[in-house]
Amino acid sequence: MAAPKHRRTALERVEKFLSETYFTDCNLRGRLFGDRCPPVSLSCFQTPRRIPYDEAVKQEFRPAQVGDSFGPTWETCWFKVELSIPPAWTGREVHFVWESDGEGMVWRDAQPVQGLTKEGEKTSYILTSSMKETEPHSLTLYVELACNGLFGAGKGSMIAPPDPDKRFTLSKAELVVFNRDVYELLVDLEILLDMAQLLGEENQRSSQALCAANRMVNVCDVTDPSTFPAARTLAAAFFSQRNGESQHSIHAMGHCHIDSAWLWPYEETIRKCARSWVTVVRLMERNPELTFACSQAQQFEWVRSWYPGLYKQIQDFVAKGQFIPVGGTWVEMDGNLPSGESMVRQFLQGQRFFQQQFGRLCSEFWLPDTFGYSAQLPQLMRGCGIRRFLTQKLSWNLVNSFPHHTFFWEGIDGSRVLTHFPPGDSYGMQGRVEEVLRTVKNNKDKGRVNHSAFLFGFGDGGGGPTQKMLDRMKRMSDTDGLPRVQISTPDQLFSALEKESSQLYTWVGELFLELHNGTYTTQAQIKKGNRECERILHDVEVLSTLAMAQGAGFQYPASQLQRLWRLLLLNQFHDVLPGSCIQLVVEDALQYYAEIRRAGAGLQQEAVQSLCRELLEPEAGNAGSTLVLNTLPWERTEVVAKAGPAGTETLALVTVPSMGYAVVREPLLPPQPVVVRKREDGSIAMENGVIAACLDVMGRLTSLRLLDSQRESVPDGCCANQFALFDDVPLYWDAWDVMDYHLETRKPVTTLLKPLEVTLAGGLRGSVSFSLQIGKSSTLTQEIILDATCPYLRFLTQVEWKEAHKFLKVEFPVQVRSPNATYEIQFGHLQRPTHWNTSWDWARFEVWAHKWLDLSEHGFGVALLNGCKYGASAHGNVLSLSLLRAPKSPDATADMGHHQFTYAVMPHLGSFQDAGVIQRAYSLNFPLHTLPARSAPCPPYSAFSVSSPAVVLETVKQAEDRPGAVLVRLYEAHGSTVVAWLQTSLPVEEAMLCDLLERPVAAERLQLEPRGLRLSFTPFRVLSLLLVLRQ
Ligand SMILES: [Zn+2]
Repeated sequence: MAAPKHRRTALERVEKFLSETYFTDCNLRGRLFGDRCPPVSLSCFQTPRRIPYDEAVKQEFRPAQVGDSFGPTWETCWFKVELSIPPAWTGREVHFVWESDGEGMVWRDAQPVQGLTKEGEKTSYILTSSMKETEPHSLTLYVELACNGLFGAGKGSMIAPPDPDKRFTLSKAELVVFNRDVYELLVDLEILLDMAQLLGEENQRSSQALCAANRMVNVCDVTDPSTFPAARTLAAAFFSQRNGESQHSIHAMGHCHIDSAWLWPYEETIRKCARSWVTVVRLMERNPELTFACSQAQQFEWVRSWYPGLYKQIQDFVAKGQFIPVGGTWVEMDGNLPSGESMVRQFLQGQRFFQQQFGRLCSEFWLPDTFGYSAQLPQLMRGCGIRRFLTQKLSWNLVNSFPHHTFFWEGIDGSRVLTHFPPGDSYGMQGRVEEVLRTVKNNKDKGRVNHSAFLFGFGDGGGGPTQKMLDRMKRMSDTDGLPRVQISTPDQLFSALEKESSQLYTWVGELFLELHNGTYTTQAQIKKGNRECERILHDVEVLSTLAMAQGAGFQYPASQLQRLWRLLLLNQFHDVLPGSCIQLVVEDALQYYAEIRRAGAGLQQEAVQSLCRELLEPEAGNAGSTLVLNTLPWERTEVVAKAGPAGTETLALVTVPSMGYAVVREPLLPPQPVVVRKREDGSIAMENGVIAACLDVMGRLTSLRLLDSQRESVPDGCCANQFALFDDVPLYWDAWDVMDYHLETRKPVTTLLKPLEVTLAGGLRGSVSFSLQIGKSSTLTQEIILDATCPYLRFLTQVEWKEAHKFLKVEFPVQVRSPNATYEIQFGHLQRPTHWNTSWDWARFEVWAHKWLDLSEHGFGVALLNGCKYGASAHGNVLSLSLLRAPKSPDATADMGHHQFTYAVMPHLGSFQDAGVIQRAYSLNFPLHTLPARSAPCPPYSAFSVSSPAVVLETVKQAEDRPGAVLVRLYEAHGSTVVAWLQTSLPVEEAMLCDLLERPVAAERLQLEPRGLRLSFTPFRVLSLLLVLRQ
């Protein structure tokens, strides 16, 4: 048979032979399906709720037809489908084909059996691969149809807010005969055609592939299946021509990225997991080689409680090593904003779940789709038994191309993890020739390592792998001209990379994503909920632990705390905490925060009641004294508000020991009272003996001095606490992105509604307030507060926010010169440049921080503290805090309405470490608790203290599974090597170091000395201790 003479006609000839559009009357594609047959009957009922199968099948079903449409959005239609397979189909492969815009789940005999989604290329449920005469030919299926697509129901574009009135059409429901031999030939020819096109004309293998495909078309008579084997033999001969030894190895793993909430609510995700995973189980039954890497303990937990039958099957495939739990975390969380302790809990809840359910810990951290990665993560991974990390999101960098795909990532403490970015830059591959070629071509470390990951399966909205993806890759397993493609596991991949790791480079510090930098600010109520709930759970754990240690039968609320932690961790999912979700998700998230606040308040009250029972005054109002509780590990002297008679509040200056309490009868007199003076020009001066501030009528700081040194913070002619409004129109990802060019649209806010006036005259506290108009329709009211002895000025801010595509920031120009600013991150801090020298510098025009950022030169600096903000920047000598955004997609109502938040400015001598900026930022976030107390005298009580100000005792909780033991976690916060003594008044019998999963570290039993426990720290080291209490 002659080889093709003309390349283009040959290519197009093969294309037309496979076309779904052209010549289907006479081409191969037109033969994929044989006879068809409609259902015997089709009926449905519709419900606004997501109900279980048992409830659904009891409902009254009404007749329905193909072509009917259903809705509106988020409703569910249940279909009853009666089928009868024609006897003439004996021996044939029979599929139930279902096509609709909504996502479907097929139920058979009360069990979910197949997920169906057109967007995920799943429209068939295989009833039998060869119909037997003895099999029953009639059956009843139910199809649960969600009125949403794989990517929700955006109106017009994917990320547009959902269209509430969308209709979902059922376009196909029938039985068909599936011609497997035609399908196999189609897959052969598709691969050959792709190789012919993509390898390029100059490549010999391209011509060979084209030649083989052309010969196959010649051999095939589509009307005569007996001609197919000869064509398949031609393909097999081509595919079995092998590679040389040096060829790259691609480790293909099935995967299905399921956002735990995004363009759909949490409840729909539960069904997405079931639809996607049941499909994986069906594929595994037919393809014993298929592996599937699956993350997020929360999703396993959902399927465990909602789909126990499916879960049992998944457990079996986990045991076989095919269904592979990965990641080790509760959800794939945001990589920037959760606190250090939250990140530990992501792993603690996740790893413990995987251990309990599947008998093993995950050995890889898996976070393919998160918007940047904290430089603290390597240490946290290592502390949770993980040395390997997989992600790929940095391929989305807008400015700089990340220089590696395989490398060691080193965190702020020096911990390292082997990190791999699948070089195809996607977690949703489809097993195509183009993708495997890209995987090799893109790979920036291909001279150093010869293995890379390839995650195949539809993702984001679920979906997962398909049979066709697997069948493509089977043909590419080892064929000359393409990289080797083996179905593999994360462990096999990383083991191979570890063997070759001697040539790898190391990346030090954060993996900053140069995109999506608006996610530090969008959905301010979610950010605030996160910060507050982190504080609430911290305080409940500290106080409950102290109550437990005191004895008296207090039951540590371990299971309640686990439930609340899991709610908080779920909301840290990488489209919820970043604020990139639809309104329905925001509503759910805020409800979870409300639940944590409500239940947390109850738990805190129970702990305090037990801890301080004898001290508390049963009747508020007639108390002469005040009980003040401090959950932070250092002594604090602060002004607090205490309840007086008849609902009044009075102020008092109190001193409370570290992690403990004091009963205050006579408040302290301040060494110097706060003085507030109004001047003739309307400006106001405030001072407290520590700092002195001058504010103009618009509430702007024209001067902020340290009184001791007379050092001025505000440069001449500048104003700090200056609000500025920016146009904020990104290129596409509205809720996600703030672009560099927004900085060119800065407009200072200067429209005064109410000039500055004195609201508290001084003494223990002085305050002033003012109001501004922002933009056309928003307003801001601020109370600026100075407390006696306090080294910072506090800004309590209320905003009525009604903007569209605007960005509100507050700016503090300061008299400090430094090329770097310092930002708090999880259990530590890092520096970022204040200049835009290189593209790597200016790409970080908007960054994130936790409770503080600081700009210091030798001997002096200014810190900005905040109560619930994360977005920030420092350019030149201007510190900015990002306050509010107004994106319209995917939530058209994002951030509209009332906001209240607090930030503070703290000038200081010396370094921020020596000046106690870290401690003050904690204090701002963890207010002292006050309760009416009896007047009986009581000595102050301290449960824990730490000898070094460099070391923060962050966490005190009951140890997991060890009711008689306490877990404490400390970290070195200054970036120094230091020895610290931990003192405790708890009855500690035994102390040992443990890892972040609370597993004791062998041979690390600590000596209990009179000074306490001696602990050695290197910069930013996190240490966890188990303290066994005397019973
Ligand atoms: Zn995602």
